[in-house]
Amino acid sequence: MRKISIDDLENSADKTLKISFEDFIKEFNCVTPVKAEIILKSLGEFIEAKGHVSGVVKLECDLCLKEFDYKLDFDIDELYAKKSLMEEYGQELELKDGQFVTDLDGSDEIDIYDLLYQSVILNLPNKKVCGINCNGDNFLKEENLSDPRLDVFKNIKLEPKNK
Ligand SMILES: [Zn+2]
Repeated sequence: MRKISIDDLENSADKTLKISFEDFIKEFNCVTPVKAEIILKSLGEFIEAKGHVSGVVKLECDLCLKEFDYKLDFDIDELYAKKSLMEEYGQELELKDGQFVTDLDGSDEIDIYDLLYQSVILNLPNKKVCGINCNGDNFLKEENLSDPRLDVFKNIKLEPKNK
């Protein structure tokens, strides 16, 4: 299930729907499908989306440029506003730390795929490093030595030590 009708949510028991998502998100280089269990709950003017996301995506290391597996394991805690908040507040509304309200802006469904796409982007590390054993430093040194300004060092001959 990728798109959830708000009518279905309103008509469900306790105005709550449990969504199981398991699919590749094509915008990422997924090693495994992204799995999520999300509870949607209607709170009247707002719809709450809470759940957990797991999966493995390939990222490129910032230091050595090699690809590495990155494990996704984070919680989702989002609010949707049924009516446009932009008109009333004129800007994005942040309720508490890190919890933003997404404006449905008259839409009658919630796009679970888009929710997961946005959540994964927000949860990727700012600095992507393949691991503690990353040899990115060596890589960078090699890069520096290929700098033409450093070619002079290659022509320095070390005198053999006196035996
Ligand atoms: Zn690396």
